[in-house]
Amino acid sequence: MTAKICSICRKSDMLCSGCNRLLEEKKITMTDVDLARAIEKLHLTAEFFNTVHHDNRIIIIAGKDAGKIIGKDGKNATALTKMLGKEINVIEVGDEKKMIEKMLRVPTLGINKVYGSQEKYKVRVEKRFRQRVNIDSALMSKILAKPVEIVFE
Ligand SMILES: [Zn+2]
Repeated sequence: MTAKICSICRKSDMLCSGCNRLLEEKKITMTDVDLARAIEKLHLTAEFFNTVHHDNRIIIIAGKDAGKIIGKDGKNATALTKMLGKEINVIEVGDEKKMIEKMLRVPTLGINKVYGSQEKYKVRVEKRFRQRVNIDSALMSKILAKPVEIVFE
């Protein structure tokens, strides 16, 4: 896991040429920059892998620092929500099936890996849980960087 932007840029409102290049090459996004700066302002020592900005949400994909970013009783996530003006969801990278279950927050009937020209996941969920699922397959696909199909049955 590498720092998204350098320590100088985390503390400043400007981007150095190195970090600016990362932005231009689309290796990082402005959301990554904003989040890194917000984390710095909270005096947290926490790294993240990636962010996915989707509608009014920012999904933070993190490793072992996921807990730190969330904070005790969600304290840090709440502070980040206020600072960034977006709903924050933190997802810890791990087993992909477990990640899918956590994102759905409802029981599944099954998660199958479908092999083909492109590996994908087919997730089966009971119809009665449809209203409780607040993530769609497009967003899940972005987070996992792999196509995900959700089937309600
Ligand atoms: Zn920099």
